[in-house]
Amino acid sequence: MSSFSSFPFGALPALLLPWYASAARPLPWRETREPYRVWISEIMLQQTRVAAVLGYYARFLSALPDVAALAAVEEERLLKLWEGLGYYSRARNLKRAAGILVREYGGKFPESYAALRALPGIGEYTAGAIASICFDLPTPAIDGNVLRIAARLADCGDCVDAPESKRALRATLAAAYPSGQCGAFTQALMELGATVCLPNGAPLCGCCPAASLCLGRARGTAKSLPVRAKKQPRRREDRTVLLLVSEDGRTALCKRPEHGLLSGLWELPNVPGVHSPQEAASLAESFGAKPLRLTASAEYTHVFTHVEWHMTCYRMECAAPDGAAPDGAAPEGLVWADAAGLSGTYALPSAFQKALRLSRKG
Ligand code: SF4
Repeated sequence: MSSFSSFPFGALPALLLPWYASAARPLPWRETREPYRVWISEIMLQQTRVAAVLGYYARFLSALPDVAALAAVEEERLLKLWEGLGYYSRARNLKRAAGILVREYGGKFPESYAALRALPGIGEYTAGAIASICFDLPTPAIDGNVLRIAARLADCGDCVDAPESKRALRATLAAAYPSGQCGAFTQALMELGATVCLPNGAPLCGCCPAASLCLGRARGTAKSLPVRAKKQPRRREDRTVLLLVSEDGRTALCKRPEHGLLSGLWELPNVPGVHSPQEAASLAESFGAKPLRLTASAEYTHVFTHVEWHMTCYRMECAAPDGAAPDGAAPEGLVWADAAGLSGTYALPSAFQKALRLSRKG
């Protein structure tokens, strides 16, 4: 039996709720129980820090204020709104789910965990968060923060990534949910993980509202918990990136394939491997550009979950492309984007935004 199953999580709400009422950070998505807003915030917050999400959240809701607007948005515009947040399948799934909500639920959210869980991009965590926060259901939202808190509270040395650990915690924690305050309890756990029971061996036990209950603190094991599954090392890929800037100040972009990493987004022309400055000009020609001179170079790394790209980037000034209007597609498949296109139209992932900074040095 998991040590989660025998831990008295039922005592937790009485400790956490008063603390949360006074200590919660004022975040915009906490001012509402409207499912659309809670949903957008929860999806944005996956793998992304609160500080980074704040601006995106405000812009996204201003552009797409409700389910119907999200369902109808052009994918290109949606990806531009998401540009820089990463994990772009999250944005596409939002639109797919919004389409289902419009078609099957009249634009409203279903008020059950199972129906929420069935929507694209809504996993156990997000369904639990929406159902508890918006509909006051006893559905724990178990992410890395909650697993860490629970492992420390219960002094649980089992691997928290094992499905049976999560199952045991979900069942035990669900039974502890306080009726009428399910949303506040979910958010109190999130807040405790974000501000007090910090990761990487650094819990602030001295100011923890759950300290009196915590076995990990009492036994001195908290810092070494939770036990996590070993991650696969990331694969390394070398790429050579071409920042091709025309004499009239436009930048060459091309579209990524419709499948795989960063699918359907825009990118700077690039090829696998590390190429020399001497090779850069013929690479540019192979994309259909007419390079005039190399004006800068740089190296940088971009890290994804499973792979890291080691980039060698060359900035080259090129002749203005024949016959291509601003933002028009050249016959070779390059698009020459002006400043307005770069800032307002084409979604260029962070992996290539870093190279754009070379533009300012050139
Ligand atoms: S007492 Fe320390 S280890 Fe235990 S839940 Fe609080 S912050 Fe985490």
